[in-house]
Amino acid sequence: MPCSCGLPSREKCQELFYESSIREFADFHYMKIHRLKVDAYSLQHPDIYMVSAKSFAAHLVGMGIAMEYNNDQRLMRALQKWLNGKRVLEKPPMLEYFGSITIADVMKAKSADEYEWFVMDWAKCVWDAYAIYPIFRTLPHHSSLIFLPQ
Ligand SMILES: [Zn+2]
Repeated sequence: MPCSCGLPSREKCQELFYESSIREFADFHYMKIHRLKVDAYSLQHPDIYMVSAKSFAAHLVGMGIAMEYNNDQRLMRALQKWLNGKRVLEKPPMLEYFGSITIADVMKAKSADEYEWFVMDWAKCVWDAYAIYPIFRTLPHHSSLIFLPQ
């Protein structure tokens, strides 16, 4: 079965994801980009990882904070708090194209530095694919997120 990310096999894609996690858990140099990798992967596989509107918001806003707000930890904490509350969210329609870079490209990295760079590139590419949802790009500015107490 072809994968939603564009790879010819979903099984192979999931294998690569597990391999990347093994690499990250074995070496903290790889681990530091783990969260962004999970967000990028989830955003390319919404039928598995973003079934609920909450998980959709978690991955998309999480990546937004990484990409647009330099991973601001205050915003990350606010996002967690926001997600833990009772929310009625509507899930937007799914994309069909998630950018040209996949986990297969990321796994070609030969070092931790290269891996970090590749994940960043991948995340940028996925983030651009989601630009169709402009509301999410500005969400931290316009939601209650930034007004939550520390
Ligand atoms: Zn895939």
